[in-house]
Amino acid sequence: METKSVTYREVLRWNDDQALDFIERRRWPNGPICPKCGTTREPYTIRRKVKETSKNKISRLYRCKDCKKDFTATVGTIFEGSHIPLSTWLAAIFDIVQSKKGISAHQLHRRHGITYKSALFMAHRIRLAMGNGSFEKLSGVVEADVTYVGGKTRRGHPIVHERTRDEIEMGWRKPSITPGQPHPRTKKTVVLGAVERGGRVRTQVVKTESAAEVRPILAENVDLPNTHLMTDKAGAYRRIKDFGRHDVINHEIEYVRGDIHTQTIEGYWSLLKRGIVGTFHHVSPHRLPMYLNEFEYRWNERHVSDGQRFETLLGQMQGRLRWNFRQDSQG
Ligand SMILES: [Zn+2]
Repeated sequence: METKSVTYREVLRWNDDQALDFIERRRWPNGPICPKCGTTREPYTIRRKVKETSKNKISRLYRCKDCKKDFTATVGTIFEGSHIPLSTWLAAIFDIVQSKKGISAHQLHRRHGITYKSALFMAHRIRLAMGNGSFEKLSGVVEADVTYVGGKTRRGHPIVHERTRDEIEMGWRKPSITPGQPHPRTKKTVVLGAVERGGRVRTQVVKTESAAEVRPILAENVDLPNTHLMTDKAGAYRRIKDFGRHDVINHEIEYVRGDIHTQTIEGYWSLLKRGIVGTFHHVSPHRLPMYLNEFEYRWNERHVSDGQRFETLLGQMQGRLRWNFRQDSQG
């Protein structure tokens, strides 16, 4: 990896060929690897020069020496099958990575001269990549809490609601997955979060705040036996026995007792909610997990420079939207 990371100005100046160079270097630091069979035997390049294809404007085609299949650096990445130029993709990724509170599809659309649909599509794919980060469990002092996203803003607009007009026009169909659904009684979406003091955060949409729901998710994301957990007095955590240590703060009585508090996770919730209200205006429940990814990512990478964040994210571009998204409708 280069010692000096790229800057926004550099990225903005890149043409599609340079953007592809960068993607290839990030994906294959030691030379191309066939995504079909995994061989690292030097593939032969069919067209080393720029090739105009119907999809990404520019792509460099390789043919694997072992399985004889053709591939490009964008196969199996969030760029695959997109008509949006790679230089625009990278500029938009940098935009998202360096903004503190998030950037809306509308801003991307205006800034890069692409359609709103394309911008929306791109923003969602980028958020998907942001969710592919580290899978190492949290440990140490961890605060866990549940929050409800939704309800009304002060002006009376719902923050989380069924579908926006844009989505209806675009033909979004409601996915059958339940995690994104609002809570049946409150119509709010329940989000469980855990944050290490001075460290990383994990958040996830849950159906309810019950122990049966919360326990397995915490166990999956937090190294419970090696964790000093701090929560409010919600019943869900009391029934979980395998924490290293568990302290409860009763918010009816106090908010801080010595170093026992849940202020870190609460600070995170307010950041998240301000971001959703301030930048995105509307987040429908089934898209909330994507926004959670983005905020989580920004928090976890808060100590590194924008350029480094950009490069790290480019290293985790594998993975595509699994949802029922109208791929053919983007620009
Ligand atoms: Zn191969």
